[in-house]
Amino acid sequence: MQTQKSRPIGGAAYATQQNNDSPIDLILHRLEKVKRTGPGKWQALCPAHDDRRPSLSIKEAEDGRVLFKCWTGCGAAEIVSALGLSLADLFPGDRRSLADHGTGPMRRPFDYRDALTGIAHETLVARLIIEAVNSGEDVDADALDRLALAENRISAALQAVWGVQ
Ligand SMILES: [Zn+2]
Repeated sequence: MQTQKSRPIGGAAYATQQNNDSPIDLILHRLEKVKRTGPGKWQALCPAHDDRRPSLSIKEAEDGRVLFKCWTGCGAAEIVSALGLSLADLFPGDRRSLADHGTGPMRRPFDYRDALTGIAHETLVARLIIEAVNSGEDVDADALDRLALAENRISAALQAVWGVQ
C-alpha cells in the first residue's frame, strides 16, 4: 500500500463515462502489459504502485462490474485514481436508475433479485468512497454526488418493492 496521491476521486474523469464503453474496456485500455488469464480475467501492471511484473488481477463480474486485486494491497480507489478514472467507472449502466426497471412499455414483473443486486452495488460504491475518505484521499463533489445517487437508487428500489411510483 502506497500513499501515491494523484487526483481527487471523480473530477473530470467522472464525466468521461458518457461513451458506451463497458467498464472493462475502459479499464483495460488504460492498463499496461495486459494479459488475459481466463474468461473474464486479466492481469496487468498495477498503476498504483511501482509495479515491475504484473501484480494486478482484473476480473469482470457477471454483471459487468470490474473487480481489482493488487497483490501488494493497493485499493480500488487508488487504482482507478491512478488511471484517471473514478470509482463510478467500475460500474456498468451508471446512468440508469433502479426506478427505470419495469417502467418501459414492455413492463415486466418486478424482480426482487434486481433490487437486491442493485442495493448490493450501491452499498459497494458507498464502501469504496468511505474507504477513500478513510485513507485520507480527497473526496470531491462528484464522489459525494455519487453517494447521494446511491441513496436515491436504494430508495427507488424500496419504492419499487412497495409498488410506489
Ligand atoms: Zn498495486
